[in-house]
Formats: sequence, structure tokens, C-alpha cells
Amino acid sequence: MKCEELLTMLNEYVDGTVDPSICKEFEKHLAGCNPCQVVVDNIRQTITLYKDGQPYELPVAFREKLHAALRQRFVQLHR
Ligand SMILES: [Zn+2]
Repeated sequence: MKCEELLTMLNEYVDGTVDPSICKEFEKHLAGCNPCQVVVDNIRQTITLYKDGQPYELPVAFREKLHAALRQRFVQLHR
């Protein structure tokens, strides 16, 4: 898996359509790529904080903000 593919998966994770933690390729990539680890930690924390343990969906506006923040952080760390 490439960094770009991981980013795509994270966007789907934000949308609630995929759980990247169940993907072996995803975990394998993270084990060897520090910038991606940081991005994933960030996004997980943000989602966890927002949901506060409740299983409701993130509003579209929040998801879009998260997508933008995610890409920005990703590009910064992968320069
Ligand atoms: Zn990576």
C-alpha cells in the first residue's frame, strides 16, 4: 500500500464506510511509515473526541472539514 492509498482509505474511514484497522495492508503500511502513523492518530483522536463514545454518524459538514484537515496534514508530513 502507498501513502496515497492510505489517505484514500482514511477518507472513507471519516465517512464511516470502512474500518481501516481491519485491513492488514493498512496496518503493515503504518508499521513502517511514521508520517502516516501521525496522521492516523490525529484523525482517530478527532473522531473519538467528537463522537464521545456515541455511535452516531458525523454530520456532512464536519466530515468535509475533516477531509480537508486530513489532506493538509498528510501533505505537510509527507513533504
Ligand atoms: Zn505512508
